[in-house]
Amino acid sequence: MSHPTQPFLQKEKRFIEEGRYGDNVIITSIDALLNWGRLSSVWPMTFGLACCAIEMMAVSASKYDIDRFGAGVFRPSPRQSDLMIVAGTVTIKMAQRVKTLYDQMPEPKYVMSMGSCATCGGPYWKHGYHVLKGVDKIVPVDIYVQGCPPRPEALLDGLLKLQEKIRRESHIKRKLTEAVR
Ligand code: SF4
Repeated sequence: MSHPTQPFLQKEKRFIEEGRYGDNVIITSIDALLNWGRLSSVWPMTFGLACCAIEMMAVSASKYDIDRFGAGVFRPSPRQSDLMIVAGTVTIKMAQRVKTLYDQMPEPKYVMSMGSCATCGGPYWKHGYHVLKGVDKIVPVDIYVQGCPPRPEALLDGLLKLQEKIRRESHIKRKLTEAVR
């Protein structure tokens, strides 16, 4: 049985062979184009809380080279950042600062919880009265990366999953839905 898109593709192939598109035509949707641009240029915030941040720094070095995925431009300001990587232990004292930084990031923005401290309190989950038991109590988390600490490869895997999530988003639909509300 042929694929449902087969007739469409055959028609397109015929148009290309007939030269109807000239030399410089790309056919895509606006969402696909916008998402491709956004997922290829995720800018993380320069921001680390504890030992997990050392692993985060390692992904920028030549061995792991996060630049291969377009996410090597760590920004010094939340106002220029798309991604907050919560790398380390979130203490109760620090929690409000983390929330403030998140609030200062422009939409669309994403949060990655890196390591078990950020995700659930890590080694402090039982007796660490001073540690927040999960950063998702104060900011919405998109991707969880497990480990204590997660290896740089795990962080890169989390980034790839985030890029997949961005690829599936539809901003046009969201904007239209917001407009008619
Ligand atoms: S998860 Fe482990 S490595 Fe990461 S900040 Fe907590 S104690 Fe340190």
